Formats: sequence, structure tokens, C-alpha cells
Amino acid sequence: MNKRKHIVFISWGKDSLAQLILMILQGIHFDEVVYVDIRFNKKRSGEHRKMEAWIPIAKRILWEKFGIKVKVLKAKYTFQEYFYKQKEKGEKAGEIYGFPYTIGAWCNSRLKVQVINEYINSLDCPVTEYVGIAYDEPWRYVDLVAKNNEKIEYRSILFEQKITEEQAFEICRPYDLISPKYKCGGFRGGCWFCVKQCYADLYELWREYPEDFQELVDMEQESPNRFNRNIPLSEIKKRFEQGYVPKRITKRKKIFDYDRLDEYIAARKNKKEIPE
Ligand code: SF4
Repeated sequence: MNKRKHIVFISWGKDSLAQLILMILQGIHFDEVVYVDIRFNKKRSGEHRKMEAWIPIAKRILWEKFGIKVKVLKAKYTFQEYFYKQKEKGEKAGEIYGFPYTIGAWCNSRLKVQVINEYINSLDCPVTEYVGIAYDEPWRYVDLVAKNNEKIEYRSILFEQKITEEQAFEICRPYDLISPKYKCGGFRGGCWFCVKQCYADLYELWREYPEDFQELVDMEQESPNRFNRNIPLSEIKKRFEQGYVPKRITKRKKIFDYDRLDEYIAARKNKKEIPE
């Protein structure tokens, strides 16, 4: 078996960049830094426009300050190409994909997970994947390391070193590596066309990027599935225009007992209920 390859994944958010900076400062070895570029179409990225404009700046900072080049992975097809692609098999053969469902979204698997898997599987060696998950996101960490297998070991240096999300900001700040998504009213991470957005995120999209919002409204006319299960996007748009401003709801975090970390990971690994 060839030598293990250490790959740091970045999303250009504060946690993944803070992890990368920490690894550089602490001399933790890695072989490459990888970003998965999810495309809306050939011209437009899946990133919100301000993020899309900022990423080349951040790339330049990584190069100039640390000599790091980022490897970019892309799926063969874009979101829009899949959206209009006809299903080939099953009851719905001939129907276009349209918008994904929120659970098991086809875009996550086809535009991201498969791209990473294909890349990792093309490497003839075991791999360590570094994913920036802060100490105050313990359930995400449990899900991550529960996936460890013979080929891939998953790690988060932030979690291992008990670095919180707030501290991640402080690590990025001196290098100007805090993305605009934290500066302009807080749009969510992930793609601008994501069906998992809450109403507050959609409101931000409508307010900041009305042409992108309209693109989704138009696409919904052609999609077999609505963007939002409860209400058509055109109706949501009407409500925004009439002055409806949705409140951002902060989800209550499930209590986590850090002393039981290994127990939680074992339960996730064995697909058992997390013990109370
Ligand atoms: S962020 Fe949303 S739209 Fe983008 S790949 Fe994930 S599920 Fe799909």
C-alpha cells in the first residue's frame, strides 16, 4: 500500500480556513488543499455572488501568505444540466430531475459527494480527510468520524484542539480570511439555489440577489417538484414584496456530553440510537 495522503478540504467558510491556518502555523503535515466547486451552470457558481467574487481574493491570500495552491474539483454536469436531465429508469423515466427533495437531495450526492469519492478512489493510497468542524458542533463531528473506514480516516483539527466557532473567526481575522457571508446580514453557507434554505435565507436571497431569486421562480414552473414543499416560490416572492420579513429561527442544539464522545461515535457507526 502506498503512503497515506493527507487532504484538507475547504469550503471557504471560517471553520475550514481556520483549520488550514492552524495546520500551517503548527506545522501539521498535509499534502493538498481541496475545494469542491459546485456549479449552477457553466458560467455561474453555486456560491452566493459575493462569495463567488471573494474566493479568487482568498485564493490569492493563501498563495501569497502561505504559498498554498488550492485544487478544485468539479462534477461533470452542473446543477442546471441535471435539473433538465431526464430520468432514465423507474416509474418516473422521461421526467426531468427538477428541484431535489430536501432529504437525500440529488445535488448533494451528484455534485459533491460523488465528486469527492471519485477523486479519493482514484488515489492508490489510504487518505486522511481534514474537515473543519468546530468544538461546539459536536454532533457533526460524531457523524464525521463515524464514517472512518479502511481507506479514509476523517479528522478535524479544530475539534481535536477544542477550538470553537468564535475562536475560528479569530484565527482567520489576521489574514483577512473571513468571507463576506459573515459580513452582509449572514446568508447561509451552501449553494444559493439550495432547497434546504429557510424562509430567512430565501428572504436574503430575494433582497440581495433578486435576479437569482427570479431564476428559481422561473425554474419552478418547469420542475416536477416545487422548490419549497409548502408554498410556491412565486407566492413567497409576493409575500416578501408585500413586506413579510421572516425571522431567523435558531435551532435548539441537542445536548452533548463530551465525556461520552466515544460512545456516541460507536452508536453512529453501528447505526444505533444515540444513548440518552
Ligand atoms: S448545499 Fe444544498 S444545493 Fe448545494 S449541494 Fe448541498 S443540498 Fe444541494
